[in-house]
Amino acid sequence: MTTEAAPQEFTFQTEIKQLLHILSHSLYQNREIAIRELVSNASDSLNKLRHIQLAEDQFRDDVPLEIVLEPNKDDRVLIIRDTGIGLTHDELIQNLGTIAHSGSKEFLNKLSGDAKGDLSLIGQFGVGFYSAFMLADRVEVITRSYKETTGWKWESDGTGRFTIEPAGDVPRGAQIRLHLKEGYEEFTDAFRLKFIIRKYSTFVPHPVRLDGETLNEQKPIWVEPKNQLTDEQYDGFYQWLTHHAEEKPLWRMHLQSDSPLQFHAILYSPPKNLEQLGFGRVDHGLNLCAKRILVQDNCQDLLPDYLHFLYGVVDSADLPLNVSRETLQDHKLLPKLKKVLTKKVLDFLAELAEERPEDFKTFHQQFGSILRTGLAQDFENRERIAKLMRFHSTFGDDREVLVSLDDYVKRAAEGQTQIYYLSGPELSSLAKHPLLEPFRKRNLEVLLLTDPVDEFAITHVGMYEEKQLISIDSVDVKFPESTNPPDEEVKPSPKGLPRVIELFRGALSEQTEDVKESSRLTDSPVCLINAQGGLSSQLQKILSQNSPDYQPAKRILEVNPQSALIGRLSELSTNSDNDEFIRDCGRQLFANALFLDGLVAQPEETTRRILRFMEEAAQKRSGIVV
Ligand code: ADP
Repeated sequence: MTTEAAPQEFTFQTEIKQLLHILSHSLYQNREIAIRELVSNASDSLNKLRHIQLAEDQFRDDVPLEIVLEPNKDDRVLIIRDTGIGLTHDELIQNLGTIAHSGSKEFLNKLSGDAKGDLSLIGQFGVGFYSAFMLADRVEVITRSYKETTGWKWESDGTGRFTIEPAGDVPRGAQIRLHLKEGYEEFTDAFRLKFIIRKYSTFVPHPVRLDGETLNEQKPIWVEPKNQLTDEQYDGFYQWLTHHAEEKPLWRMHLQSDSPLQFHAILYSPPKNLEQLGFGRVDHGLNLCAKRILVQDNCQDLLPDYLHFLYGVVDSADLPLNVSRETLQDHKLLPKLKKVLTKKVLDFLAELAEERPEDFKTFHQQFGSILRTGLAQDFENRERIAKLMRFHSTFGDDREVLVSLDDYVKRAAEGQTQIYYLSGPELSSLAKHPLLEPFRKRNLEVLLLTDPVDEFAITHVGMYEEKQLISIDSVDVKFPESTNPPDEEVKPSPKGLPRVIELFRGALSEQTEDVKESSRLTDSPVCLINAQGGLSSQLQKILSQNSPDYQPAKRILEVNPQSALIGRLSELSTNSDNDEFIRDCGRQLFANALFLDGLVAQPEETTRRILRFMEEAAQKRSGIVV
């Protein structure tokens, strides 16, 4: 492999080609971030080397761990070099020729789609290195892996190919040589480079040097006393951690604990949920440090899944510096840290809701649906999570208002033992659902759940403050006695009702569990109720959409004796000539009820029946024409 052979040529993975094309042609103004990305890669590589030296007690030497910038104005070249782990021949092909992270591919599809994507997200999706081609039309990587004695040179002009050839005796680590594009001389200007490093890289934990001067503070701010830190420092650290230039976190918490566990941590919530924008799952994890030194970035074991969107750093003095990634998995400290952090975050969020309701509202909007998946995952913290959930409700007319379970319980009627909810895909139709009639009449609040996760989540809560959470389409719904209307207001049922019910029952024997007289409705002629213990209509709908074999349970059709239509049908039922018409009405009322739940029953038959009704009605109007 080390003979004088010509450089080996390789082609980039298709996605990389697309990416390079976008990057080199982008009009994106903020080209500085390419420097940040390369410095950040250098820093990662130094972190890895330091960790290997500590954990494996090998490869130790006197070479300082540092990042050096070497600008050369005359040749229009900028070199960024580090003394980190370097890359082997195969790593060059693997790491600088393909995109490993699936998130990057999705990111790319977004970008090439409407080309409007936010390029500042580059770093987060692991396409950092390629941003070099925003500045350079030729890039060389001269590198030697810590495992090897000779090095390699990787080179590309960022079109479709790259080459690799032996580089002989080169220092350990990597140097990235950027042959800057015309008009990019500013990146050889020491003053400009210092500005960029100070702006984006002050928190890099290794010295970044230029002309012998160290440009960054390398400050582990999490161990500083809170009262000595400014908002700017916290925000700057967030930006460094997330690679999100300019973005401010929605909130932060700085924890310093001595017992029972000794640790320091800063956690941040981003202001936006990228997953909602269709970026796929964002899995950045936290940085785990031992005595200020990074042991693992992207550590997923420090927070539960339903808080995976938080950024931050956790530093524990109880963690040995030489812990390896493998043994870290089994380290008993991690679950303990996770437990404490989780509780702290949830308590912090409850405080946030009290003290900064607007920020909490934004947080809930962005991350509420991820958070509530915790109800199914984290039994221990169920109550805490439930407290943080917010729902639409029939309380008040303002659709903007979201209520908590605590708000609900405070307003509950005397003797009310259940918390009522109704779920469906769309708020405006939910709010008009016939099933709400008796609740409106009795002034009982009903939560309106529009997020499909809501109902799954809420079934896991089960009880809240000793009240059972119940879907209002269940037969088990109980109304508090204190809200019963006075007896004299209840009109007796029409005489013909039993016959109507019998005819409906006959017509709908296949589709319904039963047909019964209802006492819950005021205006609507019918509603559908789930039999005891059954899943709510919405859950059944979701299940049947996801698994075609799932047979939704039959429901009970309840008929409202107070409705004008049912009253009229009861009169007509005395003459058996009307039987078929009444059956048809039953079938149609059933179809209507399904329709309100977003379900469609036998479309041809239903439309034909409606057509027939219309023809009959039109006939009756023939006298009106002349
Ligand atoms: P990311 O850093 O998010 O993984 P990049 O495209 O920036 O994505 O880099 C791809 C990979 O190339 C890195 O994961 C790392 O393995 C390797 N790499 C990049 N820069 C360096 C460097 N200076 N030293 C060693 N390896 C590097």
